[in-house]
Amino acid sequence: MPKKVTWNAAFIAEGFEDARSYGFSFDNLSFDWNKMKSKRDAYLGRLRHMYETNLVKEKVEFINGRATFLDKNTIEVLLDHGGRQIVNATHTLISVGGQPNLPNIPGRKLCIASDGFFDIETQPSRVVTVGAGYIGVELSAIFHALGTDSHLFIRGAKVLRSFDSMVQDVITSEYERQGINIHKMSTITRVEDLGNGKKRVFYDQGDQRIFSSMRSTTFSSQSVVHP
Ligand SMILES: Cc1cc2nc3c(=O)[nH]c(=O)nc-3n(C[C@H](O)[C@H](O)[C@H](O)COP(=O)(O)OP(=O)(O)OC[C@H]3O[C@@H](n4cnc5c(N)ncnc54)[C@H](O)[C@@H]3O)c2cc1C
Repeated sequence: MPKKVTWNAAFIAEGFEDARSYGFSFDNLSFDWNKMKSKRDAYLGRLRHMYETNLVKEKVEFINGRATFLDKNTIEVLLDHGGRQIVNATHTLISVGGQPNLPNIPGRKLCIASDGFFDIETQPSRVVTVGAGYIGVELSAIFHALGTDSHLFIRGAKVLRSFDSMVQDVITSEYERQGINIHKMSTITRVEDLGNGKKRVFYDQGDQRIFSSMRSTTFSSQSVVHP
């Protein structure tokens, strides 16, 4: 849901670009990232509340905390508000999701994954997104549409390597046409903090070693570890 709201903001921004060709004119168009984030957070809060209320109405019991198996039929929950609760069940559905596994490079702590993207309070002027998967591809385009200078680093020659080859070709060339900077055959090797929110990203491209100065770094990784 937070992605969809942010995607919608990018879609609207692209609509404004097109609107001029349809005869619309407007001055002083501006975009307030922080306002979009606050409204998005509030909307998600309302949505979460609605889902919880409806589930409670359906007699679903919520136990908020971190669950671990003690044995096949016994789960211990360390409750968010302290204490623990034991739940017994014949069958258990495990749906713990996944977490990104950022590459083990110097400076990885300076990078963020997609959860961190949704915490960004102010719009970065320039970002690096790493990964040719759909999350990196979507987020780099959202940044671009909203006016951030967006750099996407991919290890191969095309984005979305696991998708249909026509989709790979069309999206790679369309992104380049739109002005998203795709750094192909590139692997990030190190990230340095330059202070004032500025980071330097080092990367190998083919057999060259290059460095580039970036204002802010966002990191998206395809690979996940299952908790
Ligand atoms: C940036 C981004 C964009 C995406 N866009 C789309 C999209 O457009 N369309 C689409 O269909 N999918 C999209 N996805 C994928 C989609 O979000 C996931 O497939 C989906 O959220 C997976 O649902 P889930 O319930 O399995 O896991 P999650 O949504 O990850 O939920 C798992 C929950 O379990 C909790 N948990 C973990 N361990 C424990 C534990 N031990 N005890 C208790 N709780 C635990 C976690 O805290 C989390 O709240 C996107 C994902 C990302 C990151």
